[in-house]
Amino acid sequence: MTSRQTHVIVGASLAGAKAAETLREEGFDGRVVLVGSEDKRPYERPPLSKNYLRGEVGREKVYVHDEGYYAEHDIELRLGRTAVSLDTSSSELELDDGALLRYDRLLLTTGAEPRRLSIPGAELDGVLYLRSFQDSDTLRERLDRGGAVIVVGAGWIGTEVAASARQRGLEVTVLDPASVPLERVMGTEVGAIYSDIHTDQGVQMLMGTGVEAFEGDGAVERVRTSDGRELECDFAVVGVGVEPRTWLAAQAGIAVDNGILVDEHLQTSAPGVFAAGDVANSHHPFYGERIRVEHWANALNQGPAAARTMLGHDTPYERLPYFFSDQYDVGMEYSGFARNWDRVIFRGDPATREFVAFWLVDDRIVAGMNVNVWDVTDPIKRLISERVTVDDRALSDPDLPLEELGHVENGSVA
Ligand SMILES: Cc1cc2nc3c(=O)[nH]c(=O)nc-3n(C[C@H](O)[C@H](O)[C@H](O)COP(=O)(O)OP(=O)(O)OC[C@H]3O[C@@H](n4cnc5c(N)ncnc54)[C@H](O)[C@@H]3O)c2cc1C
Repeated sequence: MTSRQTHVIVGASLAGAKAAETLREEGFDGRVVLVGSEDKRPYERPPLSKNYLRGEVGREKVYVHDEGYYAEHDIELRLGRTAVSLDTSSSELELDDGALLRYDRLLLTTGAEPRRLSIPGAELDGVLYLRSFQDSDTLRERLDRGGAVIVVGAGWIGTEVAASARQRGLEVTVLDPASVPLERVMGTEVGAIYSDIHTDQGVQMLMGTGVEAFEGDGAVERVRTSDGRELECDFAVVGVGVEPRTWLAAQAGIAVDNGILVDEHLQTSAPGVFAAGDVANSHHPFYGERIRVEHWANALNQGPAAARTMLGHDTPYERLPYFFSDQYDVGMEYSGFARNWDRVIFRGDPATREFVAFWLVDDRIVAGMNVNVWDVTDPIKRLISERVTVDDRALSDPDLPLEELGHVENGSVA
């Protein structure tokens, strides 16, 4: 590795910051440039819908690194700068201030942005989205004022914002055309548990209900629903999913399809250009197909994995997807990836809000979620990654340690 090389990272995000850190940790002594559109150094987004939003922790807790870290590690931060064009034949990147950066290796960690609603009234003041520090600060000011909020979308962002708003004492209504919250990921059986959790806290859950329009004089005052209701509110929060930010890659002719397409080494279709985090639709050796994961742990681990590939290492990225969520006093971790399943098995009583749910296809676990039960993600991941044959009775028995499942003779679980 010569010191003349320049590695550029576009996206001063969690994946980008961890990649820069890894380049230095692995001994790269060339130039490292980290470019980010936001004017803040890299930070973590999960607190923005949880304790940071509720005002329980300050900004310093949310940054990926201390302020001095980048200078100490000779990482050039170009904050408040957007990469506007990329030429992969000359290996040049242009920033919005006209600066041209020549790179030897380029990593795209451009992340994702909230999907916007295009319905009448969507541009009214008080129709809010949540992705950045600034969005969270704006939302927090609204929570400080109290009143009634309508949350459009019962996915992760919607349910977490609903929980935080309720914890701050607001009147909260959640709308979603699905039959239960989080239905796409968890299905109706487990989603119904999350519906109960919110209802018990006093949230009005209007499931099976879409939004037709936001109405008000300059600012949103009410939401018109698909079933013709008019719901008064002081503001609304929209959480209807995210879109990967692929335009820079697409403009450069790099292959994109629901994200930037990368192989298991996080290499894009352009030599010397890599992608990681929310924006990467990567081939996963375990699943034998491409998946795009929009979660914290993926950004945390793929950034470093991409950095190692940039330095010539040959290790594929094959971690199982993992994410977590905290709502009220209910914490959960989900491991694996279930597009389809034929049944759900519970270990423990969901009514107690301390249980593990397993999604199965035939006699194999494809995903597991521990709710207020801790230190079980390693055995859950093992059951999935080793494709252990399981028996429903053993799986549902809390007295049989998960570590022991699959360790009996004849290949099936005790
Ligand atoms: C409110 C909230 C709560 C969340 N909670 C959880 C949770 O509880 N659990 C969980 O697992 N996950 C959670 N997530 C998801 C997690 O935060 C994301 O998966 C993670 O942030 C993805 O990181 P990333 O590095 O891929 O990209 P991002 O965080 O999206 O960052 C990309 C960065 O790139 C910059 N950028 C884009 N294009 C350019 C360009 N052309 N030039 C320069 N800069 C550019 C953007 O401005 C942005 O700063 C949450 C997300 C949000 C928004």
